[in-house]
Amino acid sequence: SATKETLGFQTEVKQLLQLMIHSLYSNKEIFLRELVSNASDACDKLRFEALNNADLYGDDGELKIRIRADKEARTLTISDNGIGLSREDAIEHLGTIAKSGTREFFSALTGDQAKDAHLIGQFGVGFYSSFIVADRVTVVSRRAGLAANEAVKWESAGEGDFSVEATEKATRGTDVILHLREGDDEFLSGWKLRQVIRKYSDHITLPILMNKEEWDQEKGEQVVRDEEETVNQASALWARPKSEITDEQYKEFYKHVSHDFQEPLAYVHARVEGKQEYTQLLYVPAHAPFDLWDRNARHGVKLYVKRVFIMDDAEQLMPLYLRFVRGIVDSANLPLNVSREILQESKDIEAIRGGCVKKVLGLLEGLADSDDAAEKEKYATFWKEFGRVLKEGVGEDFANKDRIAKLLRFASTNADTADETVSLADYVSRMKEGQEKIYYVTAETFTAAKNSPHLEIFRKKGIEVLLLSDRVDEWVTGSLTEFDGKPLQSVAKGGVDLGALEDEAEKEEVAKAADEYKELVDKIKTALGDKVKDVRVTLRLTDSPSCLVSDEHDVGGNLSRILKAAGQ
Ligand code: ADP
Ligand code: MG
Repeated sequence: SATKETLGFQTEVKQLLQLMIHSLYSNKEIFLRELVSNASDACDKLRFEALNNADLYGDDGELKIRIRADKEARTLTISDNGIGLSREDAIEHLGTIAKSGTREFFSALTGDQAKDAHLIGQFGVGFYSSFIVADRVTVVSRRAGLAANEAVKWESAGEGDFSVEATEKATRGTDVILHLREGDDEFLSGWKLRQVIRKYSDHITLPILMNKEEWDQEKGEQVVRDEEETVNQASALWARPKSEITDEQYKEFYKHVSHDFQEPLAYVHARVEGKQEYTQLLYVPAHAPFDLWDRNARHGVKLYVKRVFIMDDAEQLMPLYLRFVRGIVDSANLPLNVSREILQESKDIEAIRGGCVKKVLGLLEGLADSDDAAEKEKYATFWKEFGRVLKEGVGEDFANKDRIAKLLRFASTNADTADETVSLADYVSRMKEGQEKIYYVTAETFTAAKNSPHLEIFRKKGIEVLLLSDRVDEWVTGSLTEFDGKPLQSVAKGGVDLGALEDEAEKEEVAKAADEYKELVDKIKTALGDKVKDVRVTLRLTDSPSCLVSDEHDVGGNLSRILKAAGQ
């Protein structure tokens, strides 16, 4: 309907707006980055829809972003000729937070401004940041394909509600008009705006236009001319030679593609030539997102074809165990009208994915094996944040299993702390003479692992044992049966065969004890009936009187507990 209606914001939006207005004022300028980023996304969306419907461009084929300040009206307008919003779109996208995990977001808020600003970035709730500097925001938009009189005007003062009404708009796209708060006049200054745009939005591939300004000698002030100029570099960052890109620019681009306010931990930028030609710019974030454990969550790699944006979250570009990676892949071979369905079947994509995985593993190896303390520290951070996800790769990526195995880090009886710092290579280097296996114990918690009675004989003999207590460790040890030619062996399975580590005297001792206690053992067997397979005399205990052991080929005690809890 054409009538004006007033609608309430979703509860979470109200809370978010309060947060924006009251706690983010120390980093005000980010609103511009968010709005420019939305304008750029809107143009990407139009370009994508127009692949199948070129009419959507009408006679306005040059996509661009405009920023205009009106000193008298004290408004700042960010315009684009992208996809635009219909009335329904405006209600849906500008009245709710259409993201999963909103509740986690609110529970994660700390009250610490700087930290909370990072959280906001992660959730991509960018549009509402307008209210940091505006006490009223008007959005006038016309969806591509709709007529001039089918435009919509959305307006809100950022409190409880917003209004929508029909309006006219001569051109396609969106104008976001900010009525600046008292005291925020600095964002009317052409100089300040240019500075912020260069800082945050230089890599936006569309031109960002502003009116030229010049000093008027007679008036003694800066005057705005009708002529426009492009104020950003407007070229795809990843398409430039590495030598021309600063660390700063790489980091800013990361924030743009990842919706993260924090700097990335590491990145890799490479052009691949040959049968498949593509460019990859991939980042490892410094912290885990909230939805890391949600296997349906967005994947972070965007796909471009010859610099044209094709899609977000191209899950075919990264395996699940690298789902934390963010960035872009730009292919020179794929067709522009490639769809998700085509991607699923595509051999080209398979090759690109293989290449991306190798680059990311290489990047991680670079940190893990570095002699530089700061780089090593980065790997420790990476492991804390994403180690549990990377572990999934041992079972998921057969081709790279050995490389992934080298990147794994565990707690062990060597330090006896919960810190996961021991690599399998470290373990092997400390193996005792005559030791043939890599020993581990799995349990539900670190404390349970550390205090496992199965460890007694190993502690006594000074043999290191890996202490595993992540659920995923069961799958790791199920898939990784050996490392560097040394089998992995659970200390809770079978008769622990210490091989050459067991001396003859000990073997004799067990045989003697088995004889001596035969009667007792038989009694226990009868008492336990078919609750156990066997009862044996063992050397493996030094302090505890008895312990439960699984058969070599049976499901271990910890895994059977996990399966039970999962209802299997
Ligand atoms: P995000 O960009 O992460 O989706 P935002 O809060 O920045 O979150 O924007 C919310 C939604 O509002 C966008 O997903 C988009 O649908 C819509 N939107 C915002 N700005 C524009 C614009 N300039 N043109 C078209 N749609 C827009
Ligand atoms: Mg946005």
